[in-house]
Amino acid sequence: MAAAIAFHAASPARAAPHDNDPMAPFEIGDGVWYVGASDIAAYLFKTRAGLILLDGGYDTTAPQILANIRSLGFDPKAVKILLSTHGHLDHAGGLAQLKRETGAMLYASALDGALMTRGGKGDFGLKDMAPYPPVTPDRTLIDGQTVSLGGVTLTAHLTPGHTRGCTTWTAPMTVAGKVRQALILCSNSILPPYRLDAAHESYPGIAADYEKSYAFWRSAPCEVFLASHGIFFDMQAKRTALLAGKIDAFVDPAGCKAFFDKSYAGFKATLASQQGGAP
Ligand SMILES: [Zn+2]
Repeated sequence: MAAAIAFHAASPARAAPHDNDPMAPFEIGDGVWYVGASDIAAYLFKTRAGLILLDGGYDTTAPQILANIRSLGFDPKAVKILLSTHGHLDHAGGLAQLKRETGAMLYASALDGALMTRGGKGDFGLKDMAPYPPVTPDRTLIDGQTVSLGGVTLTAHLTPGHTRGCTTWTAPMTVAGKVRQALILCSNSILPPYRLDAAHESYPGIAADYEKSYAFWRSAPCEVFLASHGIFFDMQAKRTALLAGKIDAFVDPAGCKAFFDKSYAGFKATLASQQGGAP
């Protein structure tokens, strides 16, 4: 989930307006496509041994992702590995159908994998308010683990806080003839029910987890900035520029740094305000 835009206290399972509209896929770098919806992201990596798909959207996004994969000329059964950023319904809700229809192996972190197996229930922040079709991962990822297929390697970085097993991905990506370092952010947002202050923390060590995750995000190479939600990296504006001919529209190290600097300040302000007794 993104911040307030994707979170409705009254009915958190409902999609935010226009985050899940169908959208034609587009190529970010050589053999890497955005295959998600208007804000709910999903990424397809072509390798010499089949495809890797990262994130599954809502349950209603899965058919869009499958249609996008087909529109690129691929058979969804060529997807061999299914990855995810985290176990909230807007990114993991479609994984059960995608796993079923592709036959791919699903890899996830231990804690978000457990959340997926429970279909999103028992979440530390959302409780049972945002359920989705359960799916059980085939393999458990640890921090720093690489996932390789047919010459393409992605690295999993555990960046907990937004979820306890939130996973940010990095991978080299060739854009406009140059190898760039891509970073695919899990999520860093602090949802309205989350409490970071020691007296009421939503789970033990949540603030320390965000700190550790920010230390990674703010030091990791990030030339191509991507994320689980398009809004985090100005996807729509960059897509418009890309389609107008700017083939390196998604190369944006300054935008990535500015995003993490600004959101880190926001995290520190929320922490200070909650420690000061804010509700
Ligand atoms: Zn989320």
